[in-house]
Amino acid sequence: MTRRTRQRLQVLELLEETEEFCSAQQLHARLRERDTGIGLATVYRTLRLLADSGEVGRVRLPSGEQLFRRCDSGRRHHHHLVCRFCGGTVEIVSPATEAWAEEVAAVHGYLDVTHTLEIMGTCPRCAVNGPPAE
Ligand SMILES: [Zn+2]
Ligand SMILES: [Zn+2]
Ligand SMILES: [Zn+2]
Repeated sequence: MTRRTRQRLQVLELLEETEEFCSAQQLHARLRERDTGIGLATVYRTLRLLADSGEVGRVRLPSGEQLFRRCDSGRRHHHHLVCRFCGGTVEIVSPATEAWAEEVAAVHGYLDVTHTLEIMGTCPRCAVNGPPAE
Protein backbone atom coordinates (compact mmCIF):
# COMPACT_ATOMS: atom_id res chain seq x y z
CA MET A 1 0.00 0.00 0.00
CA THR A 2 1.45 3.38 -0.94
CA ARG A 3 1.78 6.13 1.62
CA ARG A 4 -0.81 8.16 -0.23
CA THR A 5 -3.33 5.30 -0.24
CA ARG A 6 -2.83 4.73 3.45
CA GLN A 7 -3.36 8.42 4.24
CA ARG A 8 -6.49 8.46 2.13
CA LEU A 9 -7.86 5.46 4.04
CA GLN A 10 -7.03 7.07 7.38
CA VAL A 11 -8.94 10.20 6.39
CA LEU A 12 -11.90 8.16 5.13
CA GLU A 13 -11.91 6.06 8.28
CA LEU A 14 -12.07 9.15 10.46
CA LEU A 15 -14.85 10.66 8.35
CA GLU A 16 -16.74 7.38 8.69
CA GLU A 17 -16.81 7.89 12.47
CA THR A 18 -17.71 11.56 12.29
CA GLU A 19 -21.31 12.67 12.13
CA GLU A 20 -21.01 16.42 11.64
CA PHE A 21 -19.24 18.47 9.02
CA CYS A 22 -15.64 19.16 10.02
CA SER A 23 -12.92 21.49 8.84
CA ALA A 24 -9.59 20.16 7.61
CA GLN A 25 -7.99 21.56 10.79
CA GLN A 26 -10.39 19.65 13.04
CA LEU A 27 -9.83 16.42 11.13
CA HIS A 28 -6.10 16.97 11.17
CA ALA A 29 -6.15 17.47 14.96
CA ARG A 30 -8.04 14.19 15.42
CA LEU A 31 -5.67 12.34 13.12
CA ARG A 32 -2.76 13.68 15.11
CA GLU A 33 -4.26 12.28 18.31
CA ARG A 34 -3.98 8.91 16.61
CA ASP A 35 -0.34 9.37 15.77
CA THR A 36 -0.98 9.01 12.08
CA GLY A 37 1.68 11.58 11.25
CA ILE A 38 -0.37 13.11 8.43
CA GLY A 39 0.43 16.75 7.74
CA LEU A 40 -2.27 19.40 7.42
CA ALA A 41 -1.42 20.00 3.76
CA THR A 42 -1.95 16.31 3.04
CA VAL A 43 -5.27 16.34 4.86
CA TYR A 44 -6.35 19.33 2.74
CA ARG A 45 -5.26 17.71 -0.49
CA THR A 46 -6.86 14.38 0.36
CA LEU A 47 -10.16 16.01 1.33
CA ARG A 48 -10.18 18.06 -1.85
CA LEU A 49 -9.62 14.98 -4.00
CA LEU A 50 -12.31 13.03 -2.16
CA ALA A 51 -14.75 15.92 -2.48
CA ASP A 52 -13.99 16.44 -6.18
CA SER A 53 -14.66 12.78 -6.86
CA GLY A 54 -17.93 12.95 -4.91
CA GLU A 55 -16.85 10.46 -2.25
CA VAL A 56 -17.06 13.09 0.44
CA GLY A 57 -19.55 15.92 0.86
CA ARG A 58 -18.28 19.50 1.05
CA VAL A 59 -19.91 22.73 2.13
CA ARG A 60 -18.46 26.21 1.96
CA LEU A 61 -19.24 28.52 4.83
CA PRO A 62 -19.90 32.21 4.16
CA SER A 63 -16.43 32.80 5.67
CA GLY A 64 -14.93 30.79 2.81
CA GLU A 65 -13.96 27.91 5.06
CA GLN A 66 -14.70 24.45 3.70
CA LEU A 67 -16.18 21.64 5.75
CA PHE A 68 -16.24 17.95 4.89
CA ARG A 69 -18.32 14.94 5.77
CA ARG A 70 -18.92 11.40 4.62
CA CYS A 71 -22.44 11.68 3.26
CA ASP A 72 -25.20 9.22 4.09
CA SER A 73 -26.50 9.71 0.57
CA GLY A 74 -23.14 8.69 -0.89
CA ARG A 75 -22.52 9.94 -4.41
CA ARG A 76 -26.18 10.55 -5.08
CA HIS A 77 -26.80 14.23 -5.77
CA HIS A 78 -28.17 15.97 -2.70
CA HIS A 79 -28.01 19.12 -0.65
CA HIS A 80 -27.24 19.98 2.96
CA LEU A 81 -29.00 21.81 5.70
CA VAL A 82 -26.11 22.74 7.99
CA CYS A 83 -26.05 24.17 11.51
CA ARG A 84 -23.66 27.10 11.48
CA PHE A 85 -22.76 26.47 15.12
CA CYS A 86 -22.24 22.74 15.56
CA GLY A 87 -22.05 21.58 11.94
CA GLY A 88 -25.01 19.24 12.49
CA THR A 89 -26.37 18.28 9.08
CA VAL A 90 -29.52 17.07 7.40
CA GLU A 91 -29.14 15.66 3.90
CA ILE A 92 -31.80 16.91 1.54
CA VAL A 93 -32.95 15.16 -1.61
CA SER A 94 -35.34 17.49 -3.36
CA PRO A 95 -36.77 16.64 -6.80
CA ALA A 96 -38.61 19.97 -6.79
CA THR A 97 -35.30 21.84 -6.46
CA GLU A 98 -33.67 19.79 -9.23
CA ALA A 99 -36.62 20.45 -11.53
CA TRP A 100 -36.50 24.15 -10.72
CA ALA A 101 -32.77 24.39 -11.48
CA GLU A 102 -33.19 22.64 -14.84
CA GLU A 103 -36.16 24.75 -15.73
CA VAL A 104 -34.36 28.01 -14.94
CA ALA A 105 -31.38 26.93 -17.04
CA ALA A 106 -33.59 25.77 -19.92
CA VAL A 107 -35.48 29.05 -20.00
CA HIS A 108 -32.16 30.82 -20.59
CA GLY A 109 -30.90 28.20 -23.03
CA TYR A 110 -28.09 26.93 -20.80
CA LEU A 111 -26.70 23.42 -21.28
CA ASP A 112 -24.56 21.14 -19.06
CA VAL A 113 -25.95 22.74 -15.96
CA THR A 114 -24.74 22.02 -12.45
CA HIS A 115 -25.52 23.74 -9.18
CA THR A 116 -24.52 23.84 -5.56
CA LEU A 117 -26.92 24.72 -2.80
CA GLU A 118 -26.32 24.82 0.91
CA ILE A 119 -28.78 25.94 3.52
CA MET A 120 -27.28 27.27 6.73
CA GLY A 121 -29.11 27.83 9.98
CA THR A 122 -29.27 27.16 13.71
CA CYS A 123 -30.25 23.58 14.50
CA PRO A 124 -32.95 22.87 17.12
CA ARG A 125 -30.34 21.67 19.62
CA CYS A 126 -28.19 24.80 19.36
CA ALA A 127 -31.31 26.97 19.43
CA VAL A 128 -32.17 25.46 22.83
CA ASN A 129 -28.73 24.88 24.38
CA GLY A 130 -26.75 27.65 22.71
CA PRO A 131 -23.70 27.01 20.56
CA PRO A 132 -21.38 24.25 21.78
CA ALA A 133 -18.30 25.42 23.70
CA GLU A 134 -15.06 25.30 21.73
ZN1 LIG B 1 -24.19 15.01 2.02
ZN1 LIG C 1 -26.24 23.05 15.91
ZN1 LIG D 1 -29.46 19.73 -6.53
